[in-house]
Amino acid sequence: EVGEEEGSSPWRYTRRGLGFKKHEDFGQWYADVVVKGELIDYYQVSGCYILRPWSYAIWETIKSFLDTEIKAMGVDNAYFPLFVHEKSLSKEKEHVAGFAPEVAWVTKAGSSDLEVPVAIRPTSETVMYPSFAKWIRGHRDLPLKLNQWCNVVRWEFKDPTPFIRSREFLWQEGHTAFATKEEADAEVQEVLELYRKVYEELLAVPVIKGVKSEREKFAGAVSTTTLEAFVVQGSGRGIQAATVHSLGQKFSEIFKIVFEDENGVSKRVWQNSWGLSTRAIGAMVMVHGDDKGLLLPPRVAPIQVIIIPIPITSARTAAAATSSRSSEAAAAAASSSTSSRTTAAAAASTSSSSEAAAASSSSSSRMTAASAAVADPLQECKAVARLLQEGGIRSATDLRENYTPGWKYAHWEMKGVPLRIEIGLHDIEKMQVTVARRDLEKGAEGHKSVVPKHQLLESIRELLNVVQRSMLERARQQRDAAIAVALNWQDFEIAVQSKKMVLAPWCDEVAAEKEVQKKLKGCKTLCMPFELQNSLHSSLASLVLTSLASDTKCFVTGKPAKSWGLWGRSF
Ligand code: AMP
Repeated sequence: EVGEEEGSSPWRYTRRGLGFKKHEDFGQWYADVVVKGELIDYYQVSGCYILRPWSYAIWETIKSFLDTEIKAMGVDNAYFPLFVHEKSLSKEKEHVAGFAPEVAWVTKAGSSDLEVPVAIRPTSETVMYPSFAKWIRGHRDLPLKLNQWCNVVRWEFKDPTPFIRSREFLWQEGHTAFATKEEADAEVQEVLELYRKVYEELLAVPVIKGVKSEREKFAGAVSTTTLEAFVVQGSGRGIQAATVHSLGQKFSEIFKIVFEDENGVSKRVWQNSWGLSTRAIGAMVMVHGDDKGLLLPPRVAPIQVIIIPIPITSARTAAAATSSRSSEAAAAAASSSTSSRTTAAAAASTSSSSEAAAASSSSSSRMTAASAAVADPLQECKAVARLLQEGGIRSATDLRENYTPGWKYAHWEMKGVPLRIEIGLHDIEKMQVTVARRDLEKGAEGHKSVVPKHQLLESIRELLNVVQRSMLERARQQRDAAIAVALNWQDFEIAVQSKKMVLAPWCDEVAAEKEVQKKLKGCKTLCMPFELQNSLHSSLASLVLTSLASDTKCFVTGKPAKSWGLWGRSF
């Protein structure tokens, strides 16, 4: 049997492996891994990327989870147009000032200039709210809770990066209106918790909930609450993972979104807007990927288990292999595209045609063919795939004959498939499969295990859960280890320079944040965390909680500190 060598030489010769190491050159590593992992391809318009099926499938999983949860919150999906008039876009002054540099305009149709140019939505507050004003009349029309799944365009100039910062991106944007501030505030927490689940439970990326500083909040919001993730290795930077904006009554005043309450008194509504974008995929890649490629958490991996046969090469089995191959050849058309995902039905039909081919062979060879089919790793792989698929596990076989098992291992490791099943004659004889975990290094305890066939489904399910949990746990440990606490400027500076995120008490004034940005380029507040107890490991959390006593001073200005700030560089 061959194929024990992982990452074997053909892979290196064909230059399919990564050209950069994550710790050595994070930016190049990321640009390489998203392409070689087949998530994206580059496109002729800079800052725009093609989402290939491998990443779109991940987005569909996120979307389907979020969509169900959003509907359960009583939010309805709708779709509003892509274009918006300048008049509407510029109604809220802070909002337009914040977005103006990034707005793309349509100024021509064919060769003629448009009489009134239209903007392409960078976000849809100003697209939707004129309709909110029309539809909301009385208190019975509230709350109005809408969501749309769409693309938006922001002509970003700061380093476009696939998923993380692109000029066109996919997201959901929720827009809601309430009769009272209390209801609106409660929704902010509800949505933040939902976004936390997407990051932590689906993508295995730990996040810290908090509120943005005045300087960092969304243009036009009263306040912005956020989830911050941390890309630990290599870059030492944070990422704004998703945001929920309390719009208060700022937009309802300008767009005249008013209702009559039970007493006939006219009042303005309280609003929120909230969004999670394809950036989530980029954050997941940055947190989990390694020098072998992507590493996908099982809950979002388009293929959770890849099944690879170890071909028969020894003389002992040559005869069986030959007769088995002839039955295989008869079914070749049906089984040729084995690297793509097959449905349970397709796998079943493939198998039955191969069985039919075996059955139709001459009676003298019938026995040999039948027993070879049982002992053929290719057939066994298909049977195992069928079993897993019927049990709801996303699995596929890679039966390509022109690649060695070692090459296939490296290929699926690059694509980040969490589990690999290897099946050779030895496994068939022992009625078992060999399973390898993508998240553990070769040779590490638990990297490879043997699972008896009669326990296959339960064992693989359990193993997928174990991988999901341990990916989150490892990411949390790495994140926590990269957070320092600083009570004075000197400690703060050292921590930032050693690529840490820093928790530091501060006065919460715009001038103080400006000063930090001036002294340490790119360093800013990520958020003022709430819930440190739950987000951080206990020793760090208790240190932070106990040390902000009433006489604590801001580490920048020396004025009384109002809260803890989480500081760092950000994507
Ligand atoms: P915003 O409404 O501006 O707060 O954006 C909502 C969320 O979309 C942010 O929290 C980011 O995670 C994400 N986002 C913002 N800009 C981009 C971009 N250029 N590319 C991808 N995602 C983005």
